[in-house]
Amino acid sequence: KVSSLEPREDHRICVCVRKRPLNQRETTMKDLDIITIPSDNVVMVHESKQKVDLTRYLENQTFCFDHAFDDTASNELVYQFTAQPLVESIFHKGMATCFAYGQTGSGKTHTMGGAFSGRDQDCSKGIYALVARDVFLLLQTAAYEKLGLKVYGTFFEIYGGKVYDLLNLKKKLQVLEDGNQQVQVVGLQEQEVCCVEDVLNLVELGNSCRTSGQTSVNAHSSRSHAVFQIILKSGGKLHGKFSLVDLAGNERGADTAKANRKRQLEGAEINKSLLALKECIRALGQNKSHTPFRASKLTQVLRDSFIGQNSSTCMIATISPGMASCENTLNTLRYANRVK
Ligand code: ADP
Ligand code: MG
Repeated sequence: KVSSLEPREDHRICVCVRKRPLNQRETTMKDLDIITIPSDNVVMVHESKQKVDLTRYLENQTFCFDHAFDDTASNELVYQFTAQPLVESIFHKGMATCFAYGQTGSGKTHTMGGAFSGRDQDCSKGIYALVARDVFLLLQTAAYEKLGLKVYGTFFEIYGGKVYDLLNLKKKLQVLEDGNQQVQVVGLQEQEVCCVEDVLNLVELGNSCRTSGQTSVNAHSSRSHAVFQIILKSGGKLHGKFSLVDLAGNERGADTAKANRKRQLEGAEINKSLLALKECIRALGQNKSHTPFRASKLTQVLRDSFIGQNSSTCMIATISPGMASCENTLNTLRYANRVK
């Protein structure tokens, strides 16, 4: 029993980077695209720096990942190289997790939830929906049909170190840890879903509940982590789980300096949880005996997904192409580099 609680040697983590196109605002401001993807796993940042004599020069930095996607990549393509390879594992009692990490406005929600047009989001094109599509396809195959599995969805938000149920009017939920270090979000709504359409309805319901705040960066900015889970159950017991996590924006300091105290506290909490996440993923990769799950609510809640049998993780680090975002982009790339 105890051995299953320890990180396993073969815990897999795949780290990818996705660059979004320059947007209307950046183009209007004549911001420059400073990111190139010279091959399908390399990202280059061409940073413009100033010498003492005020002349400028380019400093190039190169990062390697499992995959790098340029601004022409579709959600479907990103999905194929990140979450899709993990989907089948949950039919084999596996735990899978996919994170979207990056600065506000860099494309996390676009990747996970689907494409925006105007203010409306087409949820049918995001990774939530693509995972759901493949789960229902696999469920109908001869190999898995006989398992008698039922599919459930949960959708919750972690904001300021507290958990809120997005499928239940943002009800605040308690997180309990029992003697066996099993973590439970008490009272979390698990909604049975029978088709992709049902999943999209849950996503839409949850999205309409999400905490969002206006920073100077982006109107769709989000200061909370959103966790969408697809759960397989057999005879009422957990069989496998896929957690899809749209993390809070990782920008710090400058972007929110103008903002009020509430924003600053939010920022501190976000930094703490993203740091804890990095430490936990790193500990798993190195097969360390101690993994600091308790350091944040995010890692505490995801604990079973990290240490479960047959667990696997992928991270999609999203980056903005503009020179104005250079510092945040470098921070994102360094973070992603550290967890791989
Ligand atoms: P985040 O969730 O990281 O704050 P969003 O996903 O809301 O960022 O993206 C910000 C804006 O950029 C949205 O209007 C979105 O449609 C657009 N966008 C993001 N990624 C892409 C992409 N790969 N291709 C086209 N537009 C994108
Ligand atoms: Mg977002």
